[in-house]
Amino acid sequence: MNLKNSTLSRLGYTEYRPLQEQAIDALCSGQDVLLAAPTGGGKSLVYQSAGLIRSGIAVIVSPLLSLMSQQVDELNKKGIHAKFLNSTLNPGEQDDLVWAIRHKHIDLLYLSPEKLVQPSVIGFLHSFDISLFAIDEAHCISQWGSFFRPEYSQLGQLKTSFPTVPIIALTGTVDQKTIGSIQESLQLENSLILRSSFDRSNINIQIAQKRKAKQQILYFLHHEVPGESGIIYCRSRKKTEELAAWLCELGLPSLSYHAAMSEEDKRRNHQTFDEKHGIIMVATTAYGMGIDIAHVRFVIHLDLPSSPEAYFQEVGRAGRDGMPAKSLLLYGLQDMLQAQQLAGLQPLSAEGEKQRLSSLFRILEGRGCRRKNLLSHFDESIPACNYCDRCLSTKSEQNMTTASQKILSLVYHTKGLQPFSVLIQILLGKKNKATTAINATSLAIFGKGKELAEAQWKSVVRHLIAYDYITIEQTNTLSVHINEKARDVLQGKVQIILPSERYYPTLNEDQLVI
Ligand code: ADP
Repeated sequence: MNLKNSTLSRLGYTEYRPLQEQAIDALCSGQDVLLAAPTGGGKSLVYQSAGLIRSGIAVIVSPLLSLMSQQVDELNKKGIHAKFLNSTLNPGEQDDLVWAIRHKHIDLLYLSPEKLVQPSVIGFLHSFDISLFAIDEAHCISQWGSFFRPEYSQLGQLKTSFPTVPIIALTGTVDQKTIGSIQESLQLENSLILRSSFDRSNINIQIAQKRKAKQQILYFLHHEVPGESGIIYCRSRKKTEELAAWLCELGLPSLSYHAAMSEEDKRRNHQTFDEKHGIIMVATTAYGMGIDIAHVRFVIHLDLPSSPEAYFQEVGRAGRDGMPAKSLLLYGLQDMLQAQQLAGLQPLSAEGEKQRLSSLFRILEGRGCRRKNLLSHFDESIPACNYCDRCLSTKSEQNMTTASQKILSLVYHTKGLQPFSVLIQILLGKKNKATTAINATSLAIFGKGKELAEAQWKSVVRHLIAYDYITIEQTNTLSVHINEKARDVLQGKVQIILPSERYYPTLNEDQLVI
């Protein structure tokens, strides 16, 4: 048996996956590698194997302490000499570690990025043979992505300090731009880039309009994933607690998780969710990176994620075991406006933030297969999946050009000062406080949009925002204006075709039978 195969069986596997083998071969020949594969794609085996095959110690950098300690435990159980250098070691333990390293009793050394860039640690690493550097979650180095971690920015010095040691950067689902930015920051210009398909075809994607969100969630839990474990993502900490309490009251075992909870509570809730089946974890995105629980059968988004990357990563926490899993994202016009407002308030990298949001909007509002739209954001082209909500619906689309013209001209005539809810009421001819206050009844267009229901008007507006016909500006107040592109719609040069609108069904509390 050759060294590659004996290493594989030492690690407890029978066969490498094709991409793993390519990455290992490159590293073993001294080449740098950038490996992008979705969570669960088997990235750890690559640096573990190559680290064991090459002589010297493999240094593995990860931002997730829990993940490192879990990997080290598992490796030790397999009789592999792995250690974790962290700040919880007392001086005695640190001395033991240094002794073990010096005497070549360690093959894999795990540490955090903060630890690695300390001059004393860099100096220490220079005193022995290093087989490779593995940088896990390397997208954290990219200022472009939404996962930027400042402690990663100094890792670029590794290539200069250790020019002959191969580096492997590992990342989850990222777009081409982020890959370029990782290469540049880590000085991996000549690396072999390996990208596996990001498609997680066992996860069903549903994106639907939000109305009575809590009752919609009940419908999903009851009809689509009864008794299963899953995660519900919400934006606010308070909402996670309230929703978990409400679900518990209804007899649906739920826990919450957010950054402001004590470490002890977080650890306990995570452990319960991990060990027991049939629990719902209501969490903010703090419940994220590194979560690897095989039995998560669904992920619900009750609020909009911050980017396509975040959406993909969060959805990817379902179905880690490869068995069928489901995802549901609920949103409406209000969510889009709120997200834009939040992004507008961010002083730093506001442009990046806005662009990510606008890519997300286009994925949500785009025509055709959901999975195809999502993957095309990651430069991957796949045929329609035939099982997302779009592929399963009757595939009907409507020409909304006239409706778009009405709304655009109304934005123009009201100088962008009226909220969309009022504009829609004008189109529907509703005489109420808001419309009479601005004398809307005297407008020629008042009541000229009764052919569509309110939900359809909202979807027209969402589409016009997502595709930049309308821009929303957040200065002191919110103002809306139509763009150059909108003129083509107003002049009939561009047609606006929209997929048919759909609210996700609801189930009332009193109809719930457990
Ligand atoms: P990632 O780091 O990409 O998220 P992991 O390295 O945690 O993924 O691997 C995900 C799962 O796939 C793990 O349960 C691991 O045991 C399994 N796995 C990885 N490589 C192989 C392989 N060659 N054969 C069988 N199972 C594998």
